[in-house]
Amino acid sequence: MKKRLRMTHSRSALLRHFFLPAFCWFFLAFSSCFAQSSASTSLPVIHSDHGPNSAAAQRAHYVVLASLDGFRWDYAHRDQAQHLLELGHDGVWAPQGMLPSYPSLTFPNHLSIITGLYPEHHGIVGNSFRDEQRQALGKSAIYSIRDASAVTDGSWYSGIPLWSLAEAQGMRTACLFWPGSEAEIAGERPSEYLKFDDHIDESRRISQVAAWLREPASQRPHFITLYFSDADHAGHAYGPDAPETHAAIHHLDTMIGLLRDTLLATKLPIDLIVVSDHGMAKTQGPWITLSDFADLTGFETDGPLLYAKSEADRQRVYDQLKHASDKFVAYRLRDVPAALHFNTNARAGDPVVIPTGPYAIRARRPANNKPGIDMANLPPAAGSHGYDPRRMPEMKASFFAAGPDIFQGKTVAPFENVNLYPWIAHILDLKLPRTAPPSDGKLNILSGSLRDRGSMGDSMTMEHKH
Ligand SMILES: [Zn+2]
Ligand SMILES: [Zn+2]
Repeated sequence: MKKRLRMTHSRSALLRHFFLPAFCWFFLAFSSCFAQSSASTSLPVIHSDHGPNSAAAQRAHYVVLASLDGFRWDYAHRDQAQHLLELGHDGVWAPQGMLPSYPSLTFPNHLSIITGLYPEHHGIVGNSFRDEQRQALGKSAIYSIRDASAVTDGSWYSGIPLWSLAEAQGMRTACLFWPGSEAEIAGERPSEYLKFDDHIDESRRISQVAAWLREPASQRPHFITLYFSDADHAGHAYGPDAPETHAAIHHLDTMIGLLRDTLLATKLPIDLIVVSDHGMAKTQGPWITLSDFADLTGFETDGPLLYAKSEADRQRVYDQLKHASDKFVAYRLRDVPAALHFNTNARAGDPVVIPTGPYAIRARRPANNKPGIDMANLPPAAGSHGYDPRRMPEMKASFFAAGPDIFQGKTVAPFENVNLYPWIAHILDLKLPRTAPPSDGKLNILSGSLRDRGSMGDSMTMEHKH
């Protein structure tokens, strides 16, 4: 299957989105007004040169997977988000939340949801991190969501995203943003995707989904992702309990209502799944800087991650950090508790520092390289995430879903987000990869919510390639 791609990439939007939430929130509010005045302009969709849906794929149902970044598990109930609660009432939801994978950060968890793998297995262990082994291969050792060349480089990612799983089996897919969707992963790309641009108004994103679903059956994507950032921006800038965050929740709920009406109007058999990547906590105290407790000479660092060149340095800094503060626990990489699934990938660094509360931890003070801004003494954001969801319930994420494949009126106890992968694959009649391990998630965690109870029907084989 030959594919021709039209691609140009810049990641300035991601930079604003994930690193300067306060600025972005204001900008988004302004740009929304602007965008509505030019609503007739179609979005810059990138088309992969894929064939039509296979006959088997055309018989499958549809899944729209929407992510509300940073939408904490209790926001919908707390703020009486009526459309989300209605979605849960009409199908299944997790009243006590869904467990993000560790670390509860945006890129690691979007990849866990879409690959069914813990971050140490899909390889995106942070929003930025290092991989010293790549340097020996002549590749860049630094992954950062600010760097377009890293984000679009498929060699950073392991596992098979749902869109790649579907495309390999002859089913067309579309991504209106999802971390990883701009890279070729497992030999595939979505049939349709866009370069990340968070300035695109939410209602226009929904209109694009509607346009995809109006395409003829041979072209229409059966798996579509959507992404909305507002709750994360507001939570970082103002904290999870601020009026601005309540307003963002209300706005997103209105968008979910619009999305649901839009999908119902197509009369297609669509299961709508709304999730978030993690929650949000009110940040406590000032920055904690690890170099105040340990001599990091000889270490490369990235955020709180520590990369040494020698075993002696690793052990020395571990010894200096292990009893240094009650705000964090230091582990040698191999000794990170098994429940975190974060003890086998060298990209996590060594030693590994796990915060014990909602503290902002960094290895070193940033350089004061911006004129007029005292970078080293900027306080942390009002809200933060990334912490252990079992220790800090504020990290738990949201899960709501309804549609023709899902029972009405089910609830599920907190479950790990890697279990979404086999569940969505089952709804789409996709065969899971035979290579071990196929997934860190299990179908039986959520199969009770399915009308067929997860039983194996006439699922497609890998031969159905378009
Ligand atoms: Zn996020
Ligand atoms: Zn965030």
